Amino acid sequence: MRQQIIDLAKKYDADVVGFAPASRFEKDDPVFKIFPNTKTVIGLGFRILRGIFRGVEEGTTYYQYTTMGVENLEETVMPLALLRVSNLIEETGAIAIPQRISPLILNQKEGTNPEVDYTDVYHGVTAENQLNFLNCAVQCGLGEKSKINSLLNDEFGPFIRYCFILTDMELEPTPLMNIGLCDNCGDCIKACPGRAIGANGNTNSWRCAVYYNGANGSKNPFMPPEAFANFDHKTKMDIINGTAEFDDEQAKNILDNIFFYPPAKHFYRTSICGRACDRACYMHLEAKGLLKRKFNRPFREKEDWKLSTEQFENFGKDKDKE
Ligand code: SF4
Ligand code: SF4
Repeated sequence: MRQQIIDLAKKYDADVVGFAPASRFEKDDPVFKIFPNTKTVIGLGFRILRGIFRGVEEGTTYYQYTTMGVENLEETVMPLALLRVSNLIEETGAIAIPQRISPLILNQKEGTNPEVDYTDVYHGVTAENQLNFLNCAVQCGLGEKSKINSLLNDEFGPFIRYCFILTDMELEPTPLMNIGLCDNCGDCIKACPGRAIGANGNTNSWRCAVYYNGANGSKNPFMPPEAFANFDHKTKMDIINGTAEFDDEQAKNILDNIFFYPPAKHFYRTSICGRACDRACYMHLEAKGLLKRKFNRPFREKEDWKLSTEQFENFGKDKDKE
């Protein structure tokens, strides 16, 4: 049955399949709140196609990462694989409980999910019984936890998303990944256009949301000259340069003023930063030769681009002179 599960999951586009026995989870883990008889957590990992990042990497097309690398994986590919594999398990008489991330409900009261509009997130309502998805991925052997709490896989680096099935079927465990892919290089922290990741690796999700949505003018080809014109000039330029200090409420105000690019159809916000943190990490792992999946060309072949912010600096100046 284990091999049948792997084969079926791969047939429905999973790239990595892992099995975690119940013994790898604490007794009070959400796994057992959802299903006390869980014997195995099955992890399905799906690559985010490397080529999907090319548009953002070149500064040309932006929609593809969000629609193909987030929306379609989460809303179409992953649910189909979860259902197919779950059906197979239930045909044996065992129970299968598919689990995918709910993007609108957070595990904690604070923060937001940069991938969706903050007004869609159920702030203050937590999903106490939602899985700790990153921990499940690690326990299923899909990858290792990095300094910035991303999952690093030995084939796809940080370019991977994942979902799970809880079952009362006992299946042979997958060994934990134990390579030491993350070496604390800090490239991910340096690459963020909004300084959203602290030196300790913790990400400020509101800050991430602001810059994921494209508040840094030097990394946003769609930002019009009048962007943030309703803020005082210094604040505006600090936002556009990625150096502004702001709290959660101010972050909402900044997000309300970002209208430079349409969202994907299923409420997902288009990533204008293009997950610069993950791209930097991918390049680092690739350069170190740590990724098993090789390509003919390196991910980045020329210096990273940066746009002038002069038009924002100058906007309104002529009007002031009149
Ligand atoms: S690079 Fe983008 S996704 Fe990564 S922390 Fe910064 S804003 Fe968030
Ligand atoms: S870039 Fe990758 S390897 Fe380097 S610290 Fe960040 S997560 Fe770790």
